[in-house]
Amino acid sequence: MRLILLGPPGSGKGTQAHRLVHRYGIVQLSTGEMLRAAVAAQTPVGLKAKDVMASGGLVPDEIVIGIISDRLDQPDAAKGFILDGFPRTVPQAQALDELLKKKHMRLDAVVELRVNESALLQRVESRVAEMRARGEEVRIDDTQEVLTKRLASYRALTEPLIHYYSERRKLLTVDGMMTIEHVTREINRILTAIGAVEAKAAKKAAAAKRIASGTKKAAGKASKSAGKGAGAARKVAKAPRKAVKPASKRPKTASRKSSAGSKAAVVRKAKKTAKKVTKKRAKA
Ligand code: AMP
Repeated sequence: MRLILLGPPGSGKGTQAHRLVHRYGIVQLSTGEMLRAAVAAQTPVGLKAKDVMASGGLVPDEIVIGIISDRLDQPDAAKGFILDGFPRTVPQAQALDELLKKKHMRLDAVVELRVNESALLQRVESRVAEMRARGEEVRIDDTQEVLTKRLASYRALTEPLIHYYSERRKLLTVDGMMTIEHVTREINRILTAIGAVEAKAAKKAAAAKRIASGTKKAAGKASKSAGKGAGAARKVAKAPRKAVKPASKRPKTASRKSSAGSKAAVVRKAKKTAKKVTKKRAKA
């Protein structure tokens, strides 16, 4: 699975990326984290990036594109990745398109976490307080002043990517104002609906869900039928995908979001049916 997580600072990209990594066994490629590591190690890249980062500006394109290109070539990225903090501008997105093309990799989706801006300052303040309480070092760009600058930069330079990926039918928008748990669930739901989640991962996730909600005995039975349930869910999630016309033949107003929504309804129905079957079997 190859994803981009899009959202302003404080929208929860890092948290959700960690969860996706854990769930699907893919790697998180955060340019911010890589640059902070380079600054800490005082590498040539770190020395160039240090002051720009401290002031909330953007590190030059050639540096971040180079970092990402090298990272995509590492063996652990072959299984899949989540880009967090990259691309941040339209030229970076175009460069990424080129990179992926050269490396014969296809992007599955761009997940946008949409949040209310007024909540962001408060979120970042809580993040700083929590980090201090844990005795962790606080990021030097997590101050109100720098955050305001980072937000302005997001609005001016990164938000156009919403249109960029929407036009390419890659954009999936999630309400980032929900609880962390809800956002995670919603991301997993839409990834399953568009068929980005591999059958094995979907089966594992469905089985884990049943184990969490039922008794151990029931869970044992359920894991057998979960295979069927998830399989069925995946089939129906994938079926409409085949029927989708190529982008050039689709009406311009048709959005990926709405097609993902209707697929999701079919998936929910299939899961419900699978659950009923499990219950019936358990009763018998
Ligand atoms: P983040 O952790 O994503 O908030 O990034 C922290 C800082 O690293 C940003 O404020 C930028 O200075 C720099 N940075 C991270 N990713 C990029 C990028 N794709 N392009 C330019 N600068 C970046």
